[in-house]
Amino acid sequence: MMYKCIEKHMPQAPGWKSTTVVLDDALTEPQTFFYQDPVELADFLFGNLTPHNSMLYEPIRVFEADGKTQVYHEMVSGKLWNEVQCTLPNGVTVMGVVLASDETHLTNFSGNKSMHAVYMTLGNISRTVFAMKMEAECMPGILQCQLFHHCMWIVFESMQVGHQTIHATIDPEGNIHQCLAVLMAWIADLKEQYNIVGLATNSCPQCLARYKDLEHPYAFPPHTSLWITNEVHHIHEELPISSTTWQFISRAKAVGLCGIKELCWEELGVDICQVICMDNLHGLHKMFKDHMMEWLTKMIGQLELNCRFTGQPHHIEAQNFDTGADGAQSGVIKAIQVVLDFIYITQFPLHSDSSLQELQVALSVFHDNKCIFIVNGACHQDHMNIQKVHALHHWASNIVDLGTTDNYCTETGKTLHILMCKAAYKATNHK
Ligand SMILES: [Zn+2]
Repeated sequence: MMYKCIEKHMPQAPGWKSTTVVLDDALTEPQTFFYQDPVELADFLFGNLTPHNSMLYEPIRVFEADGKTQVYHEMVSGKLWNEVQCTLPNGVTVMGVVLASDETHLTNFSGNKSMHAVYMTLGNISRTVFAMKMEAECMPGILQCQLFHHCMWIVFESMQVGHQTIHATIDPEGNIHQCLAVLMAWIADLKEQYNIVGLATNSCPQCLARYKDLEHPYAFPPHTSLWITNEVHHIHEELPISSTTWQFISRAKAVGLCGIKELCWEELGVDICQVICMDNLHGLHKMFKDHMMEWLTKMIGQLELNCRFTGQPHHIEAQNFDTGADGAQSGVIKAIQVVLDFIYITQFPLHSDSSLQELQVALSVFHDNKCIFIVNGACHQDHMNIQKVHALHHWASNIVDLGTTDNYCTETGKTLHILMCKAAYKATNHK
């Protein structure tokens, strides 16, 4: 009775919509796609789900006492929010849409089923994530990417320039705002980033660096949505109407694209290369585990490395690798130390121009010393063209654009994967 009463009077989340999606290249495999309208969802989140005084309605620029050193924390303190606000009429409130997408396996030994879920929150809300998901059955790789973009195009339709109008929305305190939902950040691991941006894996999704450039000690000029969409349109114009998807893909790969024919973000009016970002888990901790830990293990052996970890006294700021192992040359210690510094500094809950400068210093010291891992054979290749290591260059610009990294973490998304995908799937008849 009480539940029915609450359900009747409390504001309800937007209803789910469903549609059947059929790709031209998979006519016999119709996919049922479930989604919520992002503008309706943004309005709902904007008005209902946050504790008192935790909503942010306008961009801010914060400076230290010297009046020059800028400070970054919430997403509204980032450069991008300030830039977007400047393009809108006076009095309009930006609803900063933040997406997190990832694929998760539902079955390991029977059918290899997976779910591709997209979660959504607003940058106006402090570090809270709410869910929106879509589902895709298992298909060949590139077709699955096409399906993802096709489905996300449907989701984004109400947010596209020309479709969405500035509309009145009520905030948690009952005030009326004239609002516009704008995609402000899209959190994704590296594989997902290539799929979203539409680039081949031989280049950086955020800048113009190609595979052979990744070891350079600096970032290249940024990629732009305009360049990517122009290239896609150019290929469409060049190929005859009767050409197949596979012809399109081979032509796209020649210019550094992955072969997505219809990019879901094309009409959103944002630069996807600016809003795409990596989270701490994938961009920092996994990068360290996949590369630095592998090099250290190769240098001193798994047993010795384990002994060092277990023998380390429990003390804050304690540093290891200082007892003179054969492979632990000073360059190695320096390189690992500055990478750890970089990882810790990146996760500061408050950043300023000076802390970002410390990030750059740590990164340049790493690049000055990284060759030691090639010289001593720890790195199995004779170069360091590694995208995850190169991507360290982009953390500072992400913080400037989008605020501190806790604005775009995936901890909640990972939890929702378990609650909303894996647990939900186990409760079904697995059809
Ligand atoms: Zn780059």
